[in-house]
Amino acid sequence: MEAAVDSAKEAFKTWSKSTVLSRQQIMFRYQQLIKRDLKKIAAEITKEQGKTLPDAEGDVMRGLQVVEHACSITSLKLGETLFNVAKDMDTMTFRLPLGITAGITPFNFPAMIPLWMFPMSLICGNTTIMKPSERDPGACMMLMELAKEAGFPNGTINVIHGAHDAVNFICDNPDIKAISFVGSDGAGQYIYERGAKSGKRVQSNMGAKNHGVIMPDANKEATLNALVGAAFGAAGQRCMALSTVVWVGEARKWIPDMIERSKKLKVNAGHEPGADLGPLISPAAKQRVLELIQSGVDEGAQLLIDGRGIKVPGYEKGNFVGPTILHGVKPNMTCYKEEIFGPVLVSMEADTLDEAIEIINSNPYGNGTSIFTMNGATARKFIDVIDVGQVGINVPIPVPLPMFSFTGTRASFRGDTHFYGKQGINFYTQLKTVTQLWRHQDATDTQATTSFPV
Ligand code: NAD
Repeated sequence: MEAAVDSAKEAFKTWSKSTVLSRQQIMFRYQQLIKRDLKKIAAEITKEQGKTLPDAEGDVMRGLQVVEHACSITSLKLGETLFNVAKDMDTMTFRLPLGITAGITPFNFPAMIPLWMFPMSLICGNTTIMKPSERDPGACMMLMELAKEAGFPNGTINVIHGAHDAVNFICDNPDIKAISFVGSDGAGQYIYERGAKSGKRVQSNMGAKNHGVIMPDANKEATLNALVGAAFGAAGQRCMALSTVVWVGEARKWIPDMIERSKKLKVNAGHEPGADLGPLISPAAKQRVLELIQSGVDEGAQLLIDGRGIKVPGYEKGNFVGPTILHGVKPNMTCYKEEIFGPVLVSMEADTLDEAIEIINSNPYGNGTSIFTMNGATARKFIDVIDVGQVGINVPIPVPLPMFSFTGTRASFRGDTHFYGKQGINFYTQLKTVTQLWRHQDATDTQATTSFPV
């Protein structure tokens, strides 16, 4: 781990002085190479992590879009200038690299989330260290090989593997100036505090409980498709999974259709054609999800579909759980309070939009939420009063493209500067403000002034 830091430190001396255009040229090549190998990387993700192949391709694609965004660094990193702020005097700002940055990533997006981090850091002139999830580091390693092929010089990007010890090393190392973290609450809060203690800037994206509000005036079929897809896709292992549905008023009459649609989904190994959802990441994750389903039943929820006993022929030892729906869930139940991170949809009812909003705003998390309605005024009110970072209107998974920033508020985020977009550039740079005076004629008097210049 120390060798990785030494190598990043050495590389920073020249990389930080390289021209913006030369870094951009390497990033253009990197974009081409990821595109070339997209299917290969996706296949590796499916093999190692389990998500379906089309879903894994989406994982790589959404990361590739960050690389494409990083290519517009010549516009993104423009500073500010004010000509003639005083007589013959101008002020300007430059966005300069920080030094060595580090990224710590979760298992659920093995390509996209590393790509949220190191391309943005590198294009700004930093060198970087990645610590991918110890559960599926394969895609990150393939992305490193491509980075080498694209021409990023040795030492600009380094990988260390491991779990807690590697994380502690990153938090404490004085040469590492910033940490980007995505993962669970416990790890995120810990890294935020430990990293800040040693003077680093930290951005920490954490857990979620995303609610989908279904209004009775919504487009029925499109809404049910969106809801079922976003609840069970990736076996619910997405931080933006729509894991809770709130039926407002008469919308509840669509519950039987939702059940039918959910039952049609095929659970299978991710590489099998036609699979809609694959396995969970580990036996422990499966066990945890089964316990949370049981807690819902024990605390009085109605089990509309039970995916616990599912057997997938040929993969009898797989960590599969089928689509599961717990209905009549109340905010005090464990299955509502905890992020389940499995194919379990928690279903609730509200009589009015205000009641649905109250449920969402009382939940500690603020990652994502969506409303389904054909009424503009309803949507407008929702946007205005909902206290959540990413809001979808008839869009189930409102993860913004990289010209915007991935946000998230309240318990879903620690820090003040988000991933990618302009916020990403701000995170990976520091400002230098220059004030310059250029005047041809010399002073006419010989008296120095000691008062503060205005
Ligand atoms: P995780 O917290 O277990 O692991 C994330 C990283 O932290 C890994 O690299 C791991 O090695 C490290 N880590 C884990 N426990 C640690 C500890 N106690 N101390 C120090 N380091 C530790 O998360 P995961 O299970 O891999 O990912 C799932 C979680 O990530 C979910 O909670 C999900 O909501 C969240 N997530 C959030 C976002 C977002 O943008 N908000 C995106 C994806 C995933």
